[in-house]
Amino acid sequence: MNVADSERAATALRQAGYDLTLLPEMADVVLVNTCSVRDRAEQKVYKRIRQLRGVSDKKPLIGIMGCVAQLEGTAVFAKAPDVDMIIGTRATDRIPALIERIQGGEEAVIDLGERAQGEVWDVSPLERHSPFVAFVPIIEGCNKFCSFCIVPYSRGREKSRSASEIIEEVRRLRELGFREVHLIGQNVNSYRPRSDEGLEQSSGATPFCKLLRAVSDTGIERIKFTTSFPRDFHPDIVAAIEECPNLCDWVHLPVQSGSDRILRAMRRGHVVDDYLRRVDAIKNSKRRLSLTSDIIVGFPGETEEDFQDTMKLVERCQYDGLYIFKYSSRPGTPASKLNDDVSEDQKKTRFLELENRQFQLQNIIYHGYIGRTVSVLVEGRSARSEADLTGHST
Ligand code: SF4
Repeated sequence: MNVADSERAATALRQAGYDLTLLPEMADVVLVNTCSVRDRAEQKVYKRIRQLRGVSDKKPLIGIMGCVAQLEGTAVFAKAPDVDMIIGTRATDRIPALIERIQGGEEAVIDLGERAQGEVWDVSPLERHSPFVAFVPIIEGCNKFCSFCIVPYSRGREKSRSASEIIEEVRRLRELGFREVHLIGQNVNSYRPRSDEGLEQSSGATPFCKLLRAVSDTGIERIKFTTSFPRDFHPDIVAAIEECPNLCDWVHLPVQSGSDRILRAMRRGHVVDDYLRRVDAIKNSKRRLSLTSDIIVGFPGETEEDFQDTMKLVERCQYDGLYIFKYSSRPGTPASKLNDDVSEDQKKTRFLELENRQFQLQNIIYHGYIGRTVSVLVEGRSARSEADLTGHST
């Protein structure tokens, strides 16, 4: 989502007559796009701002955008007095106007407002992070309020884009030669546009299922979507994937814990059995669908027994990949009021135990690919070796 926001900011700036450079020493304005989902990311922002002041004699204007800007607001000025602009998560399109205000003599500006009425998600192909793969946001924000998570506060409530706008964007991307789109959002399957406009011809049990079929009808070669929220994961999503060959065979379905007790404390709105029902629908698909997930270890109150329940769940789900996180408290979330009573050592031990087991399980899956031919969309040179290319299968 942050990459998509940067692309959108770059589009707005270029339209206002700015040139873009990736070299801060060349820049008159430097924008730092920030993430606050983990504590370390937030600390890095302030370090980066201090570094930026030293890179050129030009004294560029410094703007901070993204989640840290939205959450910290004017407190950023106190922590980093060098910052000139604080640009909230829904103010991306107004950056040129904020720069003008500074140039007009204001000392520091802040915009934490909502998106303007009727604002369209306009991203120029020039600013896309790849000439082959495009991120297409379909929903922003979150209404779920999991107790550990800062997103509903930094990104606001769920707001879905109109289906006709999304479909038109995918059509244009296809004409421009893009091969793959990622429909993105904090919870894509909670997609609920204000009207059915653009979905009239599509069948589906939920607006998201209809959207999947409608985007498939554009004929774009590959469609991926992330992230799916377990409670809103309707089996018709699997049916849509089975029907539409250009819907890729991958579902990311974060579970976070294998213990009902911890899931309740996390306020996830699902228990293990609900989750496993969704997993079974995915695993029983006629197509072999890859399944990935997110897990937090060491949530406040997590006992060894709770953790072993997570180990059992991972064994049962046979994930193709897993993002594992050690719990860290985010100020302002309900969980931050709980006693963070799992020691750092315990968190690390559980992290490593889970990671080791996951590696063993996924290696078995990966070995199954040896000797098989799969279609890979090459996205660039490998970071690890000059001789290799990197890309993704479907
Ligand atoms: S569903 Fe939960 S974890 Fe995901 S963004 Fe919303 S509050 Fe955060």
